[in-house]
Amino acid sequence: MKPDAATPGTDRTRDELNLAPRFTEHDAVRLNRMFRGSSTQEMLEAVIGDRLAGDLAVVSSFGAESAVLLHLVASVDPKVPVLFLDTGKHFAETLAYRDSLVERLGLNLVVLTPDPAELAKKDETGLRWSYDPDGCCEIRKVRPLEKALTEYDASFTGRKAFQSSTRANLPRFEVDNSDAQGRLKINPLIDWDASQIEAHFIAHDLPRHPLIAQGYPSIGCSPCTSQVLPGEDPRSGRWKGWDKTECGIHKPGEEPFL
Ligand code: SF4
Repeated sequence: MKPDAATPGTDRTRDELNLAPRFTEHDAVRLNRMFRGSSTQEMLEAVIGDRLAGDLAVVSSFGAESAVLLHLVASVDPKVPVLFLDTGKHFAETLAYRDSLVERLGLNLVVLTPDPAELAKKDETGLRWSYDPDGCCEIRKVRPLEKALTEYDASFTGRKAFQSSTRANLPRFEVDNSDAQGRLKINPLIDWDASQIEAHFIAHDLPRHPLIAQGYPSIGCSPCTSQVLPGEDPRSGRWKGWDKTECGIHKPGEEPFL
């Protein structure tokens, strides 16, 4: 199920080609009902093993809690592509952590990079983050991911309901309404709480991101991530000083910290 990729001679989108969206709201409701009461593991085995959602990918920042979802997916099928946005601005520690998890879990890593021509034109100095972080995220995250996701029917996210009020009522399956492609977003950890995440790290001896111990409970690009003092909102270290809480990959308020 790669309709765009399988359309020779064109890079037009499904919408431009008047193709029906991959999934509808009705499909998402049906899948949520189908897996009501199922464990995360059972759901992943059915969705990945039986290809209920077509071609799948995980989108991962290799941040503080990423290892849990990556471990769960890899335990079902390590060949599922793991999309990583290499913005060119990550901490060296994040890249090293990514590489260690890829080796430990046998992940099928796919590195996405910004368009070099767009970078040269719009961020020649590499300092756009300092005066226009929205524009920087657009070039370095949003567009590369949009382009890559046209290859897939659905993507897994690591969102959890306890992280924010805007995620509190998110379902396991939802249609990504960011364009007319009708891809599914699947949130396997949506009903996990912090203690379950911690227990999974311990039970499977998963490595921690090295910057957590240095006061970074939420980790993104290095210029836009600050240390957080004990007692402060763990997310307050992201885009400090800016009225910005998300990178634009998901709808505002849904996924502030990819
Ligand atoms: S998080 Fe910062 S450095 Fe990274 S893409 Fe966004 S603005 Fe640029």
